[in-house]
Amino acid sequence: MLQKYKGLIASPGIAMGPAKIYSKADLVIKKKKLEKGIEEEIEKLKSAFETYRIRLENIKADNEAQASVTQAHVELLCDPYFIESASTLVREEAANASWALQKTVDQMAAMMESLDDPYLRERGADYRDIGQNLLYILEGVDGGDLSQLKEDCIIISSELTPSDTSTMDREQVLGFANDLGGKTSHVAIIAQTLDIPALVGMKTITQEVKDGDDLILDADRGLLLINPDDQTKECYKIRIRKWEEEKARLEEVKDRAAVTEDGKEIEVVCNVGNLEDLEDGLNRGADGVGLFRTEFLYMGNDHFPSEEEQFQVYKAAASRLGQSPLLIRTLDIGGDKSLSYFDFPKEDNPFLGWRALRISFDLPDVFQDQVRAILRASAFGNVKLFLPMVVSVEEILEAQDRIASIKKDLRQEGIPFNEAMEVGIMIETPASVLIAEELANYCDFFSIGTNDLTQYILAADRGNEKVANIYNSYHPAVLRAIKKVIDAAHRSGKWCGMCGGFASDPQATYMLIGMGLDEFSVVGSKVAKVKDLILRSKLDSAQDFANKILATGRLNEVEKLIEENPFR
Ligand code: PEP
Ligand code: MG
Repeated sequence: MLQKYKGLIASPGIAMGPAKIYSKADLVIKKKKLEKGIEEEIEKLKSAFETYRIRLENIKADNEAQASVTQAHVELLCDPYFIESASTLVREEAANASWALQKTVDQMAAMMESLDDPYLRERGADYRDIGQNLLYILEGVDGGDLSQLKEDCIIISSELTPSDTSTMDREQVLGFANDLGGKTSHVAIIAQTLDIPALVGMKTITQEVKDGDDLILDADRGLLLINPDDQTKECYKIRIRKWEEEKARLEEVKDRAAVTEDGKEIEVVCNVGNLEDLEDGLNRGADGVGLFRTEFLYMGNDHFPSEEEQFQVYKAAASRLGQSPLLIRTLDIGGDKSLSYFDFPKEDNPFLGWRALRISFDLPDVFQDQVRAILRASAFGNVKLFLPMVVSVEEILEAQDRIASIKKDLRQEGIPFNEAMEVGIMIETPASVLIAEELANYCDFFSIGTNDLTQYILAADRGNEKVANIYNSYHPAVLRAIKKVIDAAHRSGKWCGMCGGFASDPQATYMLIGMGLDEFSVVGSKVAKVKDLILRSKLDSAQDFANKILATGRLNEVEKLIEENPFR
């Protein structure tokens, strides 16, 4: 009988094939008191680290994402603090290496998992993953691996670790479904990069599926179907064929310039957090970078990155992009993003508190280092700077004053930079929408941050599941705000882009074209899709469509019109 289970979509797509249950050996590690042989135990520990390091270095990753996992794990293994902590525990407790290692890993992972930032929290999983593989080596147990699969299959497991995915045989894995994991989990990121359909957070799927079961993994709708009937299979075969045809078409359009049928050129650029994302975005056809989230440089560090450290990264990005735009956003920390090396005051409403530009102004040295680094990088490409969380003209003037004084210093020091570097702002607060006309007179461009703008307009926290039904960028209030902002920019002769998640939603593309958006900054995986929609659109018909939507004050009417629109 057909059984259906729901999961979170980690990476979209559809796959059909037999199930392969993948489980790793469970290890129960007990503490053993050693009477002697402490130094030998420490040697055992060191040799396990060495064996694992060599094993990782010998992996031939066939793509950047897999290579970067392997590299990150090698770096963690080479961290002297890691091995020293475990060795100290062996010595102080006169205990066995496996127990000391397990305890050290638990502590380090728990520390990461206690952080507010979801990205860093997930890094706790890296420690647990490395720890488990080291324990297999120490205990002489075969942990199982996915590098040699006998046939095409859909992997069902409790959780796939980064090392599983980095050694996985990409050719034979059609998709996967896990009991655990969230949308930002490691496995989700890898699945998106590898373009493998995947569902996570399925709770007990490993108990429902048996090895060899016939499966349909529908990661477009978040469903796993077990032993479907022939009719269902036929429907899915048609959907898979359509999906593959679309993939082939997108492959063809991805490197074309995005121009509507009646000639409006629109930039399709990507959002990045580091140089690897940038490379991925370019491979997927992005015309540049519309949002470099610089906070990841700060969050993945144990100190505020210096001017020089930042300069090296921005310069590498600018040089790689040449004349294609690189929009660097100044530090957007606070809210849900914290730093391990800086004490943020406890706030009742962090999203309404000390975040983004407000912090940059209060930490002038931090702001100065960053702006100097960005300006210096502007000598190497088409760099633009933009400011997050702006609420007033005065803030732009304050930032401009500081930028002018930094430029003066650079001039005196004889350091080259682009004198005409554009300075823009994020529109992500209701205040900035309401005074958009005035703000446009004081900056070079707008980029609409719909993630924050939606939460502030609708008074619904973007990360709170309880109000997730209210948080909706299709709400007429949000749409009218977007239209008002685009019109305000155009009236001042400025351009207006969008880097919030709404720009990556293909269902919204046609309407946003019609509203007059000049630039879409999207996640890498949506570059080709958004370009394809632009290439197939006519500006005047898109305008009619947008106007029809803007005329209604009802969310359900907006959703009905969007649903009926064939361009998505
Ligand atoms: C936004 O708010 O839409 C945005 C792009 O910024 P972030 O998601 O980094 O807050
Ligand atoms: Mg934001």
